[in-house]
Amino acid sequence: MKIIDAHAHLCHEPEGIDALVESGVFEQIWLMDLSGVGSLGSLRFAEQKELLRTVRNYPGFFLAFGYIDLDHARPDEVSRLRDLGFCGLKPYKQLRPYSHEIYFPLYARAQELGMPILFHTGLIAQGTPYDGRVTHAFGPENMRPVHLAGVAEAFPELIILAGHQGYPYLEEMEHNLYYYKNICGDISGYLRSVPRLNEILDRRAHDGTDRFFNEKLLFATDEFYGNEASNARALRLAKFWESYFEFIGGLYYRWGLPEEQEKFFHGNAERLRARFLSQKKSLREFH
Ligand SMILES: [Zn+2]
Repeated sequence: MKIIDAHAHLCHEPEGIDALVESGVFEQIWLMDLSGVGSLGSLRFAEQKELLRTVRNYPGFFLAFGYIDLDHARPDEVSRLRDLGFCGLKPYKQLRPYSHEIYFPLYARAQELGMPILFHTGLIAQGTPYDGRVTHAFGPENMRPVHLAGVAEAFPELIILAGHQGYPYLEEMEHNLYYYKNICGDISGYLRSVPRLNEILDRRAHDGTDRFFNEKLLFATDEFYGNEASNARALRLAKFWESYFEFIGGLYYRWGLPEEQEKFFHGNAERLRARFLSQKKSLREFH
């Protein structure tokens, strides 16, 4: 079974991508552009052009989500990102909660263009300290999962991907999965809460779709592809989750049945992809 990694990033001057593609483990990797965010410690993110170039160099293997500055962008920026080749959006550390109405024109444009938004939820890596200018938020408060409920209600056709399942605000994320058909989650960074997954993957949603939680969660690594250590770790993470689904799920739970496993590693992401790539203004080059 080939895997779709639904939440990852790219380093500046990426290396080892050929080997990653040739490993045969991944069918596709969705790259979140963080070029507008700066750096994380010594880690430098790929620039926007660099990320788009990498996507173009490996047709079909990557999909790109463009960084959007929610506090300063206007709706035309959403369209511009779409025209550049980004199929989705990725905000980060905005100044107000995700559900603040000031962001609604941006969400409305994304919904209209069929662009999914991957929202970070929960704990966040520490960035640079306050320096007298406030250009972004600090800490996880504005990115709590509960704020996505309002976005989902206001924009029922917007495809909302909640990164990391919102740790440690797991109850809020489970509420979202339960009630909103347009919220899915990715499990990157969720290793600390794996025991919780045993229980919730078989939980039935109440979102009008007849789905279980294992049909609303996506495999993801959140790795920064392009350096050898990250590339290798992503391959090990894929093995870890495959083993978890086989040896825990396969023995004790409905979500471990082979056809259910397939949804987590591939099918759920494939269905979403089919939706956002089939929009009227289709991204032909990425099909
Ligand atoms: Zn990430």
